[in-house]
Amino acid sequence: MKKKSWKIKGLLEAATDYLKKKNTPNPRLDAEVLLAHLLKVDRLNLYLNIDQPLTEKEVSGYRVLIKRRSNREPVSYITGIQEFWSLNFLVNPEVLIPRPETELLVEHAIEKIKSTTRFENEGGEILDLGTGSGAVVVSLAKELPKTRLWAADTSVGALKIARLNAERHGVSDRIEFRKGDLLEALVDDHITFDMILSNPPYIVSEDYHKLPPEVRDYEPRMALNGGKGGMFYINKIIKEGVAYLKEGGWLMLEMAPGQTEETLKLIGRTNGYGETERIKDYSHRYRVVVAQREKK
Ligand code: GLN
Repeated sequence: MKKKSWKIKGLLEAATDYLKKKNTPNPRLDAEVLLAHLLKVDRLNLYLNIDQPLTEKEVSGYRVLIKRRSNREPVSYITGIQEFWSLNFLVNPEVLIPRPETELLVEHAIEKIKSTTRFENEGGEILDLGTGSGAVVVSLAKELPKTRLWAADTSVGALKIARLNAERHGVSDRIEFRKGDLLEALVDDHITFDMILSNPPYIVSEDYHKLPPEVRDYEPRMALNGGKGGMFYINKIIKEGVAYLKEGGWLMLEMAPGQTEETLKLIGRTNGYGETERIKDYSHRYRVVVAQREKK
């Protein structure tokens, strides 16, 4: 029997049906993203060439990608790319896939740092704790051309990716990467910052098993697991961070909405912080807590 020759249209339909049967979320979108990735074209391009016949090699390559997705591997790990702040970041299973909600942290960090008196002339100094793919620090570096930035992570694999992303976006000369556990990574730098920000691991460890399989089975646990109540790293950053902030400098932390209340209490109990603020995300839930170091 003659082998079926596939065209883009039919192959997308077959893949979508397969993913649907396997109950993976967004089957059509994922089928398109993965085919575009394989053919090295934009998604729109698939539609412009919907009747294009595919080679056997392309079809078998695509089957492999669809199979991986049907096992709930995140699309971004399959393609190796995730968009954040309108920039493309390299990702692999050593780093958390940058999330849209983290753009809120970037947006407000830019606003705050621009309001400091030092910003106009000096640009200021910013530290990103637990940088992962480097999405936050690289986005900030792109937006703040005079600012000097530091980024720390305990994972060597993550730092490798973060450095590649900094190079890719032409900002590696303004970011110092440090290996180490939160602020311990900075002990030898003898520096204080205008801003320390972090998207720390904050998933409640007791709830870990409830995460979607994409997250639970593929993303780095060390980037997600915040221990009992999810507050372990948040607590540590609040306590250690104050000594590394300049007077009037800001601490900005992303977290789950249910953690913001307790975080404000922790800040209130820690010497050195003054004004605090909570910022809501686009679904009107508190996402980011900000604390300013007291001015004497
Ligand atoms: N927002 C992420 C999630 O729900 C968690 C990120 C984190 O722990 N820093 O998967």
